[in-house]
Amino acid sequence: MTGGSVRASAVRTTCPYCGVGCGLEVESGPQGAVAIRGDDGHPANFGRICSKGAALGDTLDLEGRLLHPEIRGARVSWNQALDAVADGFTRTVAAHGPDSVAFYVSGQLLTEDYYVANKLMKGFIGSANIDTNSRLCMASAVAGYKRAFGADTVPNDYEDLERANLIVLVGSNLAWCHPVLYQRVVRAKSTNPQLRVVVIDPRRTATCDSADLFLQIRPGTDVLLFNGLLHYLREDAIDWEFLDAHTEGFGVAMRTAKDTAPSIPAVADACGLDGDDVVEFYRWFARTPATVTVFSQGVNQSSSGTDKVNAIINVHLATGRIGKPGAGPFSITGQPNAMGGREVGGLANQLAAHMDFAPADVDRVGRFWNAPRIATRPGLKAVDLFDAIDTGAVKAVWIMSTNPVVSMPDADRVRRALERCELVVVSDCVRKTDTTDLAHVLLPAATWGEKSGTVTNSERRISRQRKFLPEPGESRADWWIVAQVARRMGFAAEFAYQTPADIFREHARLSAFENGGARAFDIGALADVSDAGYDVLEPIQWPRPARSGAECETSGAPPARLFADGRFFTPSGKAQLVATDPRPPAQLPSPDYPLVLNTGRIRDQWHTMTRTGRSARLMGRHPEPFVQVHPLDAARFDVATGDLVAVENALGRVVVRVEITDAVAPGQVFVPMHWSAQCASLARIGALLPAVVDPVSGQPELKHAAVRIRRYSPAWHAFVLSREPLEIAGASYVAIAKGQGYWRHELAGEALPPSWPEWADALLGPRAERLEFSDSAGRYRAARVVGGKLVACAFVAATKALPSRNWLAGLFASGRIDDEARLAILAGRAAKPGAESGPIVCSCFSVGRSTLLRAIRTQSLVSADAIGKALHAGTNCGSCVPELKALIAEAAG
Ligand code: SF4
Repeated sequence: MTGGSVRASAVRTTCPYCGVGCGLEVESGPQGAVAIRGDDGHPANFGRICSKGAALGDTLDLEGRLLHPEIRGARVSWNQALDAVADGFTRTVAAHGPDSVAFYVSGQLLTEDYYVANKLMKGFIGSANIDTNSRLCMASAVAGYKRAFGADTVPNDYEDLERANLIVLVGSNLAWCHPVLYQRVVRAKSTNPQLRVVVIDPRRTATCDSADLFLQIRPGTDVLLFNGLLHYLREDAIDWEFLDAHTEGFGVAMRTAKDTAPSIPAVADACGLDGDDVVEFYRWFARTPATVTVFSQGVNQSSSGTDKVNAIINVHLATGRIGKPGAGPFSITGQPNAMGGREVGGLANQLAAHMDFAPADVDRVGRFWNAPRIATRPGLKAVDLFDAIDTGAVKAVWIMSTNPVVSMPDADRVRRALERCELVVVSDCVRKTDTTDLAHVLLPAATWGEKSGTVTNSERRISRQRKFLPEPGESRADWWIVAQVARRMGFAAEFAYQTPADIFREHARLSAFENGGARAFDIGALADVSDAGYDVLEPIQWPRPARSGAECETSGAPPARLFADGRFFTPSGKAQLVATDPRPPAQLPSPDYPLVLNTGRIRDQWHTMTRTGRSARLMGRHPEPFVQVHPLDAARFDVATGDLVAVENALGRVVVRVEITDAVAPGQVFVPMHWSAQCASLARIGALLPAVVDPVSGQPELKHAAVRIRRYSPAWHAFVLSREPLEIAGASYVAIAKGQGYWRHELAGEALPPSWPEWADALLGPRAERLEFSDSAGRYRAARVVGGKLVACAFVAATKALPSRNWLAGLFASGRIDDEARLAILAGRAAKPGAESGPIVCSCFSVGRSTLLRAIRTQSLVSADAIGKALHAGTNCGSCVPELKALIAEAAG
């Protein structure tokens, strides 16, 4: 999985998933085969990749792709589609003004796509109603950095993780969400015995495996914990010289910290922590100059997210731990190009190139773009934007590369809003999503591997994504689609781009335009990059002002460390400590809704599964949506592992499978964010999340809602395995997952069908060879064999007690089945036990739980390393290592 030296035929590109921004090498083989490995030379990953990156090759076929433009479901030409979009937006603006239209875009877009979309909306339509799904991911980090530093500037490099002696991970399950960075931390620990890791999270995640101290914090109390730390630091860790010379606001921030966090027992009590653990954390922080605090969505996705960010930044400013190697407050972004979006102004409250809506900025960008109608004030942020669609204030929306019907809070309202919107345009690479289902115009977008451009990762490193596949069907790059619409709206001269390099050069020129060091984001050194230079552009960190010399154009050498000189981008040039008053989350538990719902990502899935859901090996670990419940709550609400439960509140309801674990605290449940209506009947967790936002950043509180759970008791349970995905009717619970050579359908229903054989015939087809079994206990089993191959099987029971799917699933991969297997099909298990691999634990090498346990026992494997040597498991991304250790303990117990 990790690569050797770059081969001449390999294309060097960047992973399209998380904000780590790993470099990849892609080699195309015969008959469309593609080999993908980590790029040894990329400074983000040095050849390593995670399970999602390793499975990218599984997602490149054209299954489910949107290949042609459509209007109201009918295929049309590009000219018809582009005219319809341009006419629709032009007419709406003419009738109702520029603020009656909006774009909702995505951190999946390349910087060049983003730049063109932002320029069209803000510069030429004349509204700032363009916001991005990055609003859901890291808007609070942006707002916090801007309040403190005067600029949206992430001050750290990944190398800081190797230089630190203390890494504090707050609201960040790095092991699953940024696995390659987590592996850098693990390796740093193995080579630096001084390095300590503190994990602060309401949930005991896989990241805790590397923690020297785990603070299982009460949700929403992070500000209090860091206020307490600031107060504690007054003893002997304040850097007075730095504070005096380079900051403002310390007095009021410290007074607020003292008032709100007067003592360690008070902090421990409010945060639900052991007082000794709080002291330990504070002591380590106070005594360790080389401290990096890494934070992510657990901090940002909160109604007090910006204050959480500033509470973290405050302790770094108070100790002077910024602008130095191995120190700083480090926001890790979720998306591959969240940072690129921030650079071009993809958020509704930014204009472009780190300029906002100050009159001088508006004037400057307007002159640069030659845009007399440029927007002069911020537009609607994501939640407000969909509210405005719901009320009819926004009448036409263009959604690019994102799926807000799944990912937004109060997601059912978002769906209703789009249902009543006069014009919904969606550009996507996927034909059928919860959002494309509501589009009037569908525009087929090229996707990863089919288009070229740049992305910026969490350490401000710009990397090339390079095309290595032809655009399938009639799909086109997003920048091309937007530019074509812009030309039809009358802006041909301003959108005359021929290549992504044309756009990148303009973007770089704007970053440097009348900058003179006033703005952190400056890549003027790349403003005149040639087409050939752009083609071979090495990963490069900003800032890169033109004065740094032409040799920087393609040089990977690091720029000067940001803030090393103690100068910030505020009017006074000093960093600002911000007084942060703790606030509780918006929805607190109540007698009706006694549990706190937390949401997040799982290791093997990305966003709404439109890509990762197509990889059988990535679906193997969690084929169904689930809720994690603490054992005490399981007893309290009378639910057991494997039960279906309804998780619900006044906004909505999902039905998911129960997983009992003490990884969640009593009183809390966790549901992943990924499942959509395309793969489960009722699992869009966004439908339960209130649309409350942080007042500064506008980021929604996606990790906190009050809910209840209750056992869902259908009349029947079933699973169906088949070679093709099936249209399921008559089931109240459906979850569909792709396997190796088969599709898995988990089902339940409230009404019994009149006849199970007829039900099976309707579902599986009346195939040539039928195997069947039924009994008076409500069990029914059927299989269809064609040409000696198992093509489908269905297992039904009155309870959830159904056979394991693993052995049956293996029969789909094995081609013709022998007599022994044929006789065993309706038993659902092998005649000779021991052949099952069990549920996948290591996705990179498809190693199952049963295989691992057998090897641990028979080969006396006592460490994750030993398992790796025997089975490869855990040797690629390493994110299953905590589970391997748990299996070793289980086998020993
Ligand atoms: Fe892609 Fe994984 Fe690297 Fe993230 S850590 S960029 S998902 S390979």
